[in-house]
Amino acid sequence: MSGTADYAVVGAGPAGTRAAETIRRADPDGRVVVVSADPRPFYNRILLSKAFLKSDEVDPDHVVLAPAEAYEKRGIELRTGVRVERLDPVARTLELSTGETLTYGKCLVASGARPIELPVPGGSLARTLRSLDDAIALREEARAVERAVVVGGGLIGVEVACALVERGAEVLLLAREPWIFGHMAPEPVGRALERILARGGVEIGLETTVVGIEEAAGRKRVLTAAGGRLDAPLVVAGVGVTYNVEFLTGTGLLEPGRGVRVNAWMEADAPGLWAAGDVAAFDDPVLGTRHHVEHWLHAQHQGRRAALNMTGERVAYARVSAYDTELFGTPVVALGAPELATTWTASAELAEGMGVAVGETGGRTVAAFRIGEAGASVADLTERIERDTVGT
Ligand SMILES: Cc1cc2nc3c(=O)[nH]c(=O)nc-3n(C[C@H](O)[C@H](O)[C@H](O)COP(=O)(O)OP(=O)(O)OC[C@H]3O[C@@H](n4cnc5c(N)ncnc54)[C@H](O)[C@@H]3O)c2cc1C
Repeated sequence: MSGTADYAVVGAGPAGTRAAETIRRADPDGRVVVVSADPRPFYNRILLSKAFLKSDEVDPDHVVLAPAEAYEKRGIELRTGVRVERLDPVARTLELSTGETLTYGKCLVASGARPIELPVPGGSLARTLRSLDDAIALREEARAVERAVVVGGGLIGVEVACALVERGAEVLLLAREPWIFGHMAPEPVGRALERILARGGVEIGLETTVVGIEEAAGRKRVLTAAGGRLDAPLVVAGVGVTYNVEFLTGTGLLEPGRGVRVNAWMEADAPGLWAAGDVAAFDDPVLGTRHHVEHWLHAQHQGRRAALNMTGERVAYARVSAYDTELFGTPVVALGAPELATTWTASAELAEGMGVAVGETGGRTVAAFRIGEAGASVADLTERIERDTVGT
């Protein structure tokens, strides 16, 4: 593998894979090499906390989106199970975990993120979910348990709790915040979600801080700040992510704690280097701020945009991102950047369990939640955020 690639892509998630395909279409002759630490080729990560976890019938092969042959057919070299240990932006080289060095003409960093461990004594006893292998291990463990504690009232925690209940387990979902999605959504959204979860059979413990996990005789016990001791054979944590950027340490290309710093064109502060997807802290022309979006479709769109810019265009990435899921049959959509909203307006119907909340900052719409089929449509809400675009 040592040698020179016209294009190197770090990561084979949605950002890296869609980028590699786009580069190939734009430049049929260039050598494209994708290096991915994950031993498996591109798969549907978003199913892992949904259909895959709910049912043992979903085979791991069913979630694969691009088998190795698909890369071969397109003339893209894919190296799975190989980690980039160091990127030298001056020499334009990647040092790989195999000991090889790959020189690149242009490189896209699309290395994504990984879950953080619950930062308490015994935190490693809680399972986390990111990769297909994590999901296989979690599902295997879930098969044998009747009760689980899920720590984290965000998207992943909520989805995992629902999936485990749908498998037939008793589930207690713990959140530090006073309502579900409390770190990013207003209270009416949280309360509406709590109703959906409770109706589906998820038990919820709010304002509950986990301070430790113990294990004795094969049983796990979750300890809470209020002195609670909660027995559960299975503990899962969904308490946030950290960005996969160790190979860029010391390059000056990182925004501390926030991944790779890029502009609106996805360009990093080094010649021939771009970043996209979860790992990119990008200047967002829609919202007028530098931030992260950790959504599947966003990663695909941004990967494509970076690839087009790497192959001759120079167009800013300007889209409203969306995360949609379904909790016990009720659709839930999050749009824009909820963490930027300083004020929220919730529709009256939300108190009944379905409706819309719109988040603003400085008079601009920056985010919205839509629960159920009620209130303004997703298209209208998206347009509302777009209308307030700040511009590059
Ligand atoms: C369980 C789960 C459910 C989700 N559900 C949804 C959903 O319903 N809707 C939604 O919008 N989003 C969802 N997301 C988020 C979505 O999956 C991510 O936003 C998306 O995968 C980000 O894509 P990416 O390509 O930026 O990074 P990733 O998908 O994380 O891919 C990065 C790749 O880079 C590889 N890598 C990392 N470091 C290195 C290295 N040093 N060298 C080589 N390779 C490396 C990794 O192995 C990985 O394959 C979910 C996430 C999870 C974990």
